Formats: sequence, structure tokens, C-alpha cells
Amino acid sequence: MEIILAKQAGFCFGVKRATQMAFEAAEKGDRTYTLGPIIHSPQVVQKLEEMGVGVINNLDEQETGTIIIRSHGVAAEEVDEAVRKALDIVDATCPFVKKAQEHVQSLSHAGYDVVVVGDADHPEVQGIVSYATGRVFVVGSGEEAARLPRMAKIGVVAQTTQSFENLKNVVIECLVKGGEIRVFHTICDATAVRQEEAKLLAQQVDCMIVIGGYNSANTKRLAEVCAELLPRTHHIETAQQLVPAWFDKVEKVGVTAGASTPKWLIDEVMERIEDINRDKKH
Ligand code: SF4
Repeated sequence: MEIILAKQAGFCFGVKRATQMAFEAAEKGDRTYTLGPIIHSPQVVQKLEEMGVGVINNLDEQETGTIIIRSHGVAAEEVDEAVRKALDIVDATCPFVKKAQEHVQSLSHAGYDVVVVGDADHPEVQGIVSYATGRVFVVGSGEEAARLPRMAKIGVVAQTTQSFENLKNVVIECLVKGGEIRVFHTICDATAVRQEEAKLLAQQVDCMIVIGGYNSANTKRLAEVCAELLPRTHHIETAQQLVPAWFDKVEKVGVTAGASTPKWLIDEVMERIEDINRDKKH
């Protein structure tokens, strides 16, 4: 059985950077916490917990110590509160997310109503929205944008994981709604690149393994796009979940992983598949 690992499997730039910063902070000292899970990988969160880094959901009880801000950012008020309480801050917000936050802030200051293209329930979007000081709307699609009121000046930014197509559809509607439009292309292509590569791989193999947190939206999407092309697709979090029967009569297996899946989990899965392959030969 041939085992093919996608070139773009696993950590994107922003998640890798945030995880490194969190492990460095963990090594430095005690009373270190992440504000929300640092990334959507239960195994990474658990590893950090074993090193003494806890997860807290707000700063209410927090008077001392170090706070690590996750890769997809937090609300502006939470950063302000951490500064007010004189907590040590390790800001691991991905620079691409930070850019979107900064654009919203400067658009608001310049008198634009802001339209954020994204999922209103996602913490990244809630963080981005919090930087607006004037009117701000979150829209998930062109159809939703069509229901926006008329505005004199509209500034548009997107959640980093949105598709270019969706941003384009919203911008077209905004052109109808506003007299002046400023658009910032804040989409990061890490997710799209992983999906495109996974689609190509799924068409060349008999079975696909997708590794990543069940709470990771980008991993779930990766598994969905593979399953649409290849029903023998399995989404797992760890190597222990691999079932030898999945590889019956399989000549080629493809492996990919979401942007928040660490290399060590991918390595463990690759080793386990190789073991299963060896066992089948004997
Ligand atoms: S997907 Fe892109 S924006 Fe999000 S953390 Fe990774 S690099 Fe940053």
C-alpha cells in the first residue's frame, strides 16, 4: 500500500507561530493561561495543560500572571482589560487576523460603516467586529448583504478563512448600497490551499485519512470536501482511532491534516498506517 502525505498537511503559519509562543511561555513560568483554547486542537491544549498552561474563558478572576492571546484573536475589550489589570500579555494573534482588526479600526475612525464578511458566531469575527467604533454589520453571503441599509461610506473586510467568491458577492451588493466603498482583501489562502491539494489527492487514492480536532472548522471542511469525492474518507484526531479494516483492498491511501493539527500527531498516524500495512502483508 502506498501512503501519500499531502505537502500542505498541518499547521499554517499563524497556528505554528501561536503554538510556539505558547510553549515558550509555558517553559518560562507559572500562572500562564490562554484566553480560550489557543488553537482548535484538543491534543495541543492538553499538552499545554500538562505543562501548567490553563484555559480561561474570561479575565474576571484573573489578577496576576500571563495571558496568551490565541491565533484567531480576542475582543478589543479583553485586551484592554488585560492591560488595565497589568497582566503579562503574549499576543499570539495571527498577523493576518491582526491586519483585519486594524483595518476595521481605521475604517471606523475614518467614518466608514463597516461590513465584515464572515460567520457571526466565530470568535475571530467577534474579535474583528469589536475593533469597530461606529456601525458594523456581519454578513455571511451576498444574499445577506442585499438586505443591508443604504450607507454613504462602506468599508469591507473579510474573516481570514472566507472564500474569495463570497467576498466578491458581498462587495457587488455593497456597490449597490453605498456611495463610496473601500475593500480590504483580508483572506488568508492557507485553508483554500489545503482544500485544493486534498481534493487532488482524494481523486488519486482509494482511502483518505483527515487528521484534526473535531472542533476545528477547517479540518471538518477538509474532511467534507474529501468525502464528497471519496466516500472512504475518515476524520480522526489521533492514530489510536485508525481501524485496520479501513485499509482492506486499498492500494493507495492519502493523508492530510487541518491547519491546527501538529506535526507530532501526523507523524504518529503515518507510523500507525505503516504498521497496519506491515501487519497486512504477513
Ligand atoms: S489560517 Fe491564515 S489567518 Fe488563520 S491562523 Fe492560519 S495563517 Fe493565520
